[in-house]
Formats: sequence, structure tokens, C-alpha cells
Amino acid sequence: MSLDARLSAEVDARRDSLIRLTQELVRIPTLNPPGRCYLEICEFLAERLAKSGFRVELIRAEGAPADSAKHPRWNLVARHEGAGGGDCVHFNGHHDVVEVGHGWTVDPFGGELKGGRIYGRGACDMKGGLAASVIAAEAFLTACPSFRGAVEISATADEESGGFGGVAWLAERGWFSPERVQHVIIPEPLNKDRICLGHRGVWWAEIETKGRIAHGSMPFLGDSAIRHMGAVLAEMEATLYPLLAGKRTAMPVVPEGAKQSTLNINAIHGGEAEQEADYTGLPAPCVADRCRIVIDRRFLIEEDLAEVKREVTAMLERVKARRPSFEYEVRDLFEVQPTMTTEDAPIVRTTAAAIERVLARRPDFVVSPGTYDQKHIDRIGKLSNCIAYGPGILDLAHQPDEWVGVDDMADSAKVMALVLADLLA
Ligand SMILES: [Zn+2]
Repeated sequence: MSLDARLSAEVDARRDSLIRLTQELVRIPTLNPPGRCYLEICEFLAERLAKSGFRVELIRAEGAPADSAKHPRWNLVARHEGAGGGDCVHFNGHHDVVEVGHGWTVDPFGGELKGGRIYGRGACDMKGGLAASVIAAEAFLTACPSFRGAVEISATADEESGGFGGVAWLAERGWFSPERVQHVIIPEPLNKDRICLGHRGVWWAEIETKGRIAHGSMPFLGDSAIRHMGAVLAEMEATLYPLLAGKRTAMPVVPEGAKQSTLNINAIHGGEAEQEADYTGLPAPCVADRCRIVIDRRFLIEEDLAEVKREVTAMLERVKARRPSFEYEVRDLFEVQPTMTTEDAPIVRTTAAAIERVLARRPDFVVSPGTYDQKHIDRIGKLSNCIAYGPGILDLAHQPDEWVGVDDMADSAKVMALVLADLLA
């Protein structure tokens, strides 16, 4: 039997184990925020991987954002050492899941198996991918006991809230340094026949316009910050949105609409604060003395963050030139640089070849419209040989009745096992 066939058979022999592992992971409600059951899931996986011969380490991101005695940010790194001299292939999965939300027809933490699908919050994003990587590693270790290098699996905290208590924290402490780790696969749900090379950049900022409070019956005695913001939004429509629509990227971003620069206005607040739901009175008449919007600007690898910021300031200056009393402030909230591995990177070439062998088709190369933990591995860890590849349909992430297909998990586990064999055997 060829090595490919043996690896494939080893994964097939573990189908029940793959299902059970996914169900068990889904049943641990690792909700973020606030960050529940992080220790529980890390201990559960540590026990499982220790049985398969991994050296396991539980690492708390002490002092990271959101870390507290009540909700400590726990991470697991497990390493299986082979003979010396080879590379280390690392699978990184986040163990946190987002809130449940409304509209479920199954128990979100039941891990129900129905029609070849496992249901639950995090089944797709990304406990199914985490389970597939564990099965892939176990299949590989059985089929190729005398390999060179090392296999690592990590389960990390807080990806859904920026990854600062997870991959960023580990990367800052050298866990992803090129001397330790040479190849990284993040099994996020990007579909089993697609390789995700990276993601666009992010800039979040708050823009505030200033006014002067006065009685609403004599608005001419005040200065409305809301009217000023109205002028900003009009200028944005007239000049900024057309400018962004004209910026196209060579990055293979999916979906198609995200192949350009985009800007969302996440929130707008002006004047009197919203009243509590039980308040039955009328609002008070005041001229708004301030108005704020939060913008979410996604930028391309061809763009420069300083230039992205300058475009917004230039737009605000155009408004100022027309409105004598116009005053504004821009506050940075969050920023992430775009990242993209090249198609000839070793992990990309190896995974693409494995997909062709398992699925008998060439993979698509894609770039995520959003962002995920690759940014920390690339920017902090200085390791650009990193991709996202895993089972599950991206559109199902964060939705009610989220599920992951068992066949998809098994197929991607075969791909991951082949990647290990190609790089280490
Ligand atoms: Zn995810």
C-alpha cells in the first residue's frame, strides 16, 4: 500500500474518534466574551494529546487583555518530537467561540450528529478543524513513527476578540519563532478545497464632530454636532466611497465584493443618550454638542496605512473648508496590517499538492476579507510560511444552527496527514 493510501486508511479508521472528539469539544461552552471554560478545554485536549505521545504545556496569558482570576486566558501547546534535524509543522486552532444568538433549532452545546453533520456553536468555527488536525496528527504518527522534526498542535484563546490572550501572547514569547516552528496551518473553516493565503488590513477609528449645546427651540444659539456629522457623511458619499471603489487588489479576496477597499460605519451616536426601555417620557430639547461615528476601514496589501488615514483626514479638511465652525477629532481604535503568504511558500505548495491527491482537483487560493490569527504569526512571530486551511463552510460561522460535515472533516484530515508526511517523513 502506498503511503498516501495508508494515511487515508488511518484517517478512515478514526472516523468515530473524529466525530466523538468534535462533539466533546462542542460540548465545552468556551464562550468569548467573557472567556468561559478555557482551562477545561485545554485540559481535555492535553489529556487526549498526552495519550498520543505529545508533550503538553498549558500556558496562561497572565496580564493579557481580558485575563482575570475569574476568566483566565488559557492556551495549550502540544509537541511530538521525532528524530532530530527536521522541520516543525504546527496546527493552530482557536478554542473560543462567539455568543450563541437567536434562531437555533438544536442545542447549541449539544454536539448533535444528524445527517452526517455535527451541530453546535463552534462546530464549524473552528472545533471541527481543531479535531481534524488532531486526527491527522494521530494518523500520521501511526503510519510514520520514525519521522524527522516535530508535530505541534496548539489550542489558543481569544481569536474572536483579537487573539491578544492567545496567539499574539504566545508569538511575543517566541512560541512561533522561525527557530522553533517552520510551517503553520490554521484550520479555520475555509472549505476543504481552498487555501487561504492571508487577509486584508483593518483600521478602526472614531471620528467626533464638536458642537455647542443650546435650547432646541433656539438652535441658532448653539452649534449642532449632528449637522456637522451630516456634512461629513455627505462628503464621504461624494468623494471617499468612490475613491475606495476604485482601489482594486491583486489579492484573491473572496467574496468578490471585498476585492476593493471597503469602509463600514459601525455606529453613530449624537446628542442626548438613548433612554432606558422603561422610560416613558419625552426627550429633552437640546442642540447636540457632540456626534461620533466608528468607522471600520478594510485595506489592501497595495495600500499604506498612513495613506489610508490621510484620506480620511483630507476628507474632513474638505468639510472644514466649507463650514467655518467645524471641528473634529479622529481617534485610532485598532489596526492590523494586511498579510499574504506567497503561492510558492513551502506550506502552500505542499498543501496544494495534498488537496489534489485527496480531492482530485486543484485548490483555489483565497484571501479572507476579515482577519484572523495569521497576523500575529506573521507580524510578531516573523513566520510568513503560514496558511489557513480547514473543513467547514465559512458562511456558517457565527450563524444559528452552525454545523460541520463529517466527510469534510475526514477529507481535510487526510490532506493534513499528507502534508505532515510530505514535510516530515
Ligand atoms: Zn475562527
